[in-house]
Amino acid sequence: VELTEACLAEIDAAGALNAFVHNTPDLALEQAKAADARKDAGSLNGIPLGIKDLFCTKGVASQAASKILDGFKPEYESTVSQNLLDAGAVMLGKLNMDEFAMGSSNETSVYGDAVNPWKVDDRKLTPGGSSGGSAAAVAADLCLGATGTDTGGSIRQPAAFTGITGIKPTYGRCSRWGIVAFASSLDQAGPMTKDVRDAAIMLQAMCGHDPKDSTSADLPVPDFEAMLTGDIKGKTIGIPREYHMDGMPDEIEALWAEGRKMLTDAGAKLVDISLPHTKYALPTYYVIAPAEASSNLARYDGVRFGHRAKLGQGDGITEMYEKTRAEGFGQEVKRRVMVGTYVLSAGFYDAYYNRARKVRALIKKDFEDVFAQGVDAILTPATPSAAFGLGEMTDADPVAMYLNDVFTVTVNLAGLPGISVPAGLDKQGLPLGLQLIGRPWEEGDLLNTAYALE
Ligand code: GLN
Repeated sequence: VELTEACLAEIDAAGALNAFVHNTPDLALEQAKAADARKDAGSLNGIPLGIKDLFCTKGVASQAASKILDGFKPEYESTVSQNLLDAGAVMLGKLNMDEFAMGSSNETSVYGDAVNPWKVDDRKLTPGGSSGGSAAAVAADLCLGATGTDTGGSIRQPAAFTGITGIKPTYGRCSRWGIVAFASSLDQAGPMTKDVRDAAIMLQAMCGHDPKDSTSADLPVPDFEAMLTGDIKGKTIGIPREYHMDGMPDEIEALWAEGRKMLTDAGAKLVDISLPHTKYALPTYYVIAPAEASSNLARYDGVRFGHRAKLGQGDGITEMYEKTRAEGFGQEVKRRVMVGTYVLSAGFYDAYYNRARKVRALIKKDFEDVFAQGVDAILTPATPSAAFGLGEMTDADPVAMYLNDVFTVTVNLAGLPGISVPAGLDKQGLPLGLQLIGRPWEEGDLLNTAYALE
């Protein structure tokens, strides 16, 4: 109760960050009291957490930061948030994010921007996106950990921008049941925490087989925390040459070099590797993700959930769909739905969607090949820059925002686990992250390698 009260006070004092968007203090205190009274305490007993607004939480507003889900209070709890509650966690409330998790800056949210607790002078910075509220809340000590979701980098990029740790597990490790779908073949939930040990403990509680999600893996979950020995002697770390991007800032190159040194100092062996299809990852992602999104978002029709537009005389069902969707979705979401329906349309399916699926298979094979050559993990920068200013990218071409995901989307396309760990500060004193990519289902090893970077 004491810990929960402390977090609730911090949340009240940090309103300017706009991290929590639905607060549930009464529920939190009730859960905290139950935790104090519990004898068979789970691994997260009494630990106050924030939950991204993308997760359906029973009886608590779950809007995916969209107007179209205005007033939606699910009758059910997502499997991941239920697993956390079953481990004894306390839910403090729901966290800000980009609308339907589409974005890299938390600026597409119906609740307004979340703000990075790090700043340079008075310049307000993005906490990244789409899990921007989760990142800001953990970095500002409003909660001890938060859930995020990652379709193309939405856990790892905001973690890097706010100096915290975030892991996207292997596709299928966490159940997607009850998480509002963006791009179903890419979406994964994961923890956002202050350090690697917390990530191991929280991930352990979140994941596991769920018969309600047919893509959830029926595999044993190892004890991730027990695997944090810090011993990485003899491990082979791949350094992909294609990630040396043109125009990458010197400080990102320097950070990467520093990461390589830390791993070799800890006894790992570095090898130069090639992932030849890397340059196609962004265009592939920005065909596949909108295609799946356009299909998933077809369910928001003004009938089943949330918002319905006011109708005029003579308006029929078509007008209801049109007006509801026109009012309910923001600009970026509309852009994705339009791109998605275009690439799936009869005349363009083969040229775009089918081609993207084939390239995706090649991207996955690039990783399989290097893992088959004995590489245990791959080290890359997490982002091409530190956090940028709020509003600075909004007038730019949307593609400029998509370029932020250059180091993260390959991992989702290949279904692999990836982690971002804080790795230093840039010239302005802002946090930067390094990414480690692991073999499928080897989150334990990946966490342990990340632990050696801490
Ligand atoms: N920034 C990417 C996008 O806008 C990734 C989002 C995510 O991982 N949810 O699609």
